[in-house]
Parts: sequence; C-alpha cells; structure tokens
Amino acid sequence: MLGKLNIAIVGCGPGGLATALFLQRHGHDITIFEQFAEPLPLGSGLLIQPSGQLILEMLGLLDRIKSMASPVIQLNGISVERNRRALDMRYSNTSEGIAALGIHRASLFAVLLEAIQKADIPIVVNSRLSAVEDGDNGIRPVFESGVNSGAFDLLIDATGARSPVAGGKVTRLNYGAFWATVDMPQAHCIMPAALDQRYYRASQMAGIMPIGLNPATGNPGAALFWSEKPENAGQVIESGIDRFQQNYCDLWPEAEPFVSQITSVEELNLAVYNHRTGLPSPTDRLFHVGDSWHCTSPQLGQGANMALIDAAALAAALERSASLSEAGERYRKARMTHIRLYQMLSVIFTPLYQSDSLLKPLIRDIAIHHFARMPFIRRFIAKTVSGNLALSI
Ligand SMILES: Cc1cc2nc3c(=O)[nH]c(=O)nc-3n(C[C@H](O)[C@H](O)[C@H](O)COP(=O)(O)OP(=O)(O)OC[C@H]3O[C@@H](n4cnc5c(N)ncnc54)[C@H](O)[C@@H]3O)c2cc1C
Repeated sequence: MLGKLNIAIVGCGPGGLATALFLQRHGHDITIFEQFAEPLPLGSGLLIQPSGQLILEMLGLLDRIKSMASPVIQLNGISVERNRRALDMRYSNTSEGIAALGIHRASLFAVLLEAIQKADIPIVVNSRLSAVEDGDNGIRPVFESGVNSGAFDLLIDATGARSPVAGGKVTRLNYGAFWATVDMPQAHCIMPAALDQRYYRASQMAGIMPIGLNPATGNPGAALFWSEKPENAGQVIESGIDRFQQNYCDLWPEAEPFVSQITSVEELNLAVYNHRTGLPSPTDRLFHVGDSWHCTSPQLGQGANMALIDAAALAAALERSASLSEAGERYRKARMTHIRLYQMLSVIFTPLYQSDSLLKPLIRDIAIHHFARMPFIRRFIAKTVSGNLALSI
C-alpha cells in the first residue's frame, strides 16, 4: 500500500476542503493553497443532494450542515405561457425518500473550513496557481507570486471551472444567471420547502429556493435567481433595480415579497456557466477534483455534490492502491461513468430551461405534462436529481 504522502491541494472550494479532510484522516501530510488573501465563498445558494449528504455524513459534518440549511422536498416549475408544469420532481419518489438541503454557500464553506482548522491543516493564501512542473523529485505548483513551495508527491487541483492546469475544452454556455440572497418573507405565496421556478419559453427563468440561514442577516433566507445572457448583463445593471424587479414580477407576480428586498443592482451577482469534461488524473502526480475536470450548468444542482463525491472517491482510491498510477486508475473507474452520465444529462436538459429555442421548451411542456406522471419516470427523475444514478465510490 502507498505510505504517507506529501500532498498539495490547490483551491478552497467544497472539493478541495473535503479532499483535505479525507486525506488527512488517512494519515497524509496536506497543505492547501488558495488564490485569495482569505478563503471565501462566492455566490448564493446551492442544493446539497442526498448523494452529497452521504459524503458530509462520512466527514461527520451533516448534522451541523442540517442545522444551517432548509429541507427541499420538491423541485417545481411552471411554464407561464401554457400554464403547465414544466418541472416536477419530488424527493419522496426516491427509494430512500431523503430531501435535499438548500443552503447558502457561505454556510457550507464555514462548516468545512471549521473542520479544516480543527484538523490543523495549513492553508497558504495569496497563492494563485498558474502551472505545474512534474519532475523526478515530485510535482511542483507554480504560483503567480513566484513563491517556491517545493515539490510534492501529489498535487490535487481543486481550482474549479477556470482551472489553469486542467485539459479538455471549456465551452461558455449562452445563459448564466443573476443571483441574490434575501430573507424569507413572513408571508408569501411560493411553494414551501420547494425550489420553485417560472419560465417563459426557455429564454426567461426566475427561481427561488429556501437556503436555511441567511448569513448576512441571521434570518431564514432564500436564494433568488434570474436567467440572463452574460452579454446582456451590463444592460441589466445599467437599467437599474426597478427595471429588474419589474421584469421579475412580470414573469412571476407572487415573487414580489422576495424581489422587492433587493434594493440595488450591486446585490445581484452574475454567475457565468461553463461546460468541460476532462480527465480526473492526467498524470500519476496530478489529480483533479470537482469543477476543475467536470463543470457544467447548475440546472441539475449537482456540481458541489460531485466535488464532494470526488473527494471521497479519490481518498478511497489512494487508500486501496499500491502506487499512484493504480490510484489514478481506481479514481478514474470510480468516477468516470457517473460524471459522464450527468454531463450528458446536463447537455440534454439545460437547453429545455435556458436557451433561445422555441421547440425545446415546447417539448419540455408537453413531455413533463404527459410523462412525468408515470411512476417509472417519476422514480427515474427523482433518482437522477438525487445524484444517485450510477453512483459508486
Ligand atoms: C449560480 C450557481 C448555482 C449552483 N448551484 C448548485 C447547486 O444547487 N448544487 C450543486 O451541487 N452545485 C451547484 N453549483 C455548482 C457548484 O457551485 C460547483 O460545482 C462547486 O462549487 C465546485 O466546487 P469546487 O470545489 O470544484 O470548485 P469551486 O467551488 O469553484 O472552488 C474553487 C476554489 O479554488 C480557488 N481557485 C480558483 N482558481 C485558483 C487558482 N488559479 N489558484 C489558486 N486557487 C484558485 C477559488 O478561489 C476557490 O476557493 C452552482 C454553481 C453556480 C455558479
């Protein structure tokens, strides 16, 4: 079996932090590097699927996460043009019946970071990776700062969708979204415990999701999003917050108690979506976790969960292998089918909800209306969104 390794992990997202926790537990020496002066989460809410919850439970962090999150029992979407249900998924249709957890990114980050600090794993900040040098004595991260950290037995790239060292072609998706965090209003007409959305064709989409604690106010919170093409983002900002609120409420009048809390365009964060499927371990000393080798649109709500699963799978692969090349092969085998399947599903489903097509949303509205009621299809959709389709660690 492999002995104690000196491992560099670059990136303080869910993938990097979870990988560090697993690998330190297995007795390896870990150093984390992060580009920012202080590790911090960017963005608003996300869904932790039953698949991701399993990994957090393995890390002993699930109860803490639950205390900061909201259960999400259903994904619901209405096509306003035809007044038809265009998304209908209930977690009760999985064999386990476990709900997802809506959480603010900052809460997930805080719990993982606290565990890293408790485990005394060092984080070296201001370390922006630009390349790696793979030599006889190990692999050396090259940082923009010019600081030489020395060589490591293994480098794990967890730098996310814009990784400077991952292969594979990156495709920028036509649509991204504006996100904001608000408090859950005392009175509202949105479906409780659901991620709820409204669509006009596939060119407009508004969504609201409960996220447990709003870290900015300490109150129960919600994430609100609005589909937008990145090239139109400047125009949205210039038009001002009143216009944004008006557009949102034109599509979804009942969302007014949520969207009226956003009082300035500065509260809107534009998220740009990329798609890439690379290789998990292109060399014996360089492994990738999370978005660095498989990013996609968040339509299926899987990215952070996939990063957590990668972390557990990579640690298991190292634990069971006699060499780094064997570990790379085990890791690839454990993750490739699951990743490829979800990347493909994302390519198929994203344009049904975010695209300029007229035909695809029509197909969506007809298909969901007729087929999503069939028990077999319901179970399939529920298992897919739970993250458990073809999952093995
Ligand atoms: C708007 C939006 C909504 C989403 N909703 C969901 C959801 O509901 N459910 C879900 O599971 N996923 C969701 N995702 C996807 C999810 O956020 C990502 O898949 C997940 O964060 C990937 O984790 P990661 O650790 O691989 O990378 P990241 O979270 O991107 O973390 C990368 C880390 O690396 C650091 N870094 C980057 N470049 C460098 C560098 N060159 N050198 C050093 N450090 C670097 C960054 O600062 C960061 O700390 C969503 C994504 C977006 C944009």
